[in-house]
Amino acid sequence: MTNLGSLSRQGKSLATVIAASGSFLIGMLLPMEIWTNQQTNTKATTVKTATNTNTVKIATNTNKIPTNTKQINQSANNKETPLEVIKISSVVAKKINNTKQQLRELELKTFNFSVPKRFQSQTVKDVTLNSKQKVISLTFDDGPWNNTTEQILDILKKHNIRATFFVVGQHLNVRQEIGKKIVEEGHVIANHTWNHPSKKSKMSPDRIKSEIGRTADLIYKITGRTTNLFRPPGGVLVNGLADYAKERKHTVVLWSADSVDWYYRSAQKITKKVLNKASNGGIVLLHDGGGPRGHVVEALPNIIAGLKKQGYEFVTIPELLTIKDRELHQEELAKKREIKKQETNAQENKEQTNKE
Ligand SMILES: [Zn+2]
Repeated sequence: MTNLGSLSRQGKSLATVIAASGSFLIGMLLPMEIWTNQQTNTKATTVKTATNTNTVKIATNTNKIPTNTKQINQSANNKETPLEVIKISSVVAKKINNTKQQLRELELKTFNFSVPKRFQSQTVKDVTLNSKQKVISLTFDDGPWNNTTEQILDILKKHNIRATFFVVGQHLNVRQEIGKKIVEEGHVIANHTWNHPSKKSKMSPDRIKSEIGRTADLIYKITGRTTNLFRPPGGVLVNGLADYAKERKHTVVLWSADSVDWYYRSAQKITKKVLNKASNGGIVLLHDGGGPRGHVVEALPNIIAGLKKQGYEFVTIPELLTIKDRELHQEELAKKREIKKQETNAQENKEQTNKE
């Protein structure tokens, strides 16, 4: 699917997307909440967090400016305006501004599960978050599959967790209703090729195009979603599939915590594997399809409980990348401020020397 094609389709489907993605919106609120928490964390001593605190202060002051002006005008015109009203209007104005900003971001994010620009055409294994807030992403490959995918959806729903499903086109084709359900329940659906080719030898351009394009088209037909997340079967990066996806601005998503559920058929063993490899910003690899996955269904509640116990919250891959994007953005701002500070100091020193 071409990017232009995707955009035009997205345009047509915006209304459908917004209407059908109520629960996804809630899902997107999670990282924002996390981000806000990070920003208002005043206890941390790192440069990054110190900068975050400054950002919050600046934003708060900016919000107060119009209210102060209003306060002055009101005082001049009507001395009886109660202080309480002024206080409330300040809080309301601030909340409206925040909500507007969040809605703008939500609109962008829900449009097509889009990932931040810096992660487009990149390969991602994990994103190593520095925040105190721990998040992790559950991903399920090779479905949709009879029984197991829906059992997994039920467990995720019960725990109010959103995950990312890398579907195989031919499996989606024969289980379209399950594919639809994945998206309706607020999860992210992503591309894992049509036939699941995992050999390392170079594939023909036509085959590559068909593996990714046909799956993308079917995902769109069934769910009204376009995806720019691609996971190469077997994590193979050399057969041409990953390169093709990157050329189309897709993010190639690998994993940092392999449950090895395709090999070990024991729920205990795969639970242990995931819990041992969990990390902040980590990506967990599980399978809902491609073979009997009863042990994955059995393990999932324990995996969730174990990760929760370790303090993790669950996010989809686009949410994870958005959180990392903000973290990097804050670090860049801090660096810029530091450079500017050094320049100002140098200038002041120079002026002082000249005076002497
Ligand atoms: Zn696979």
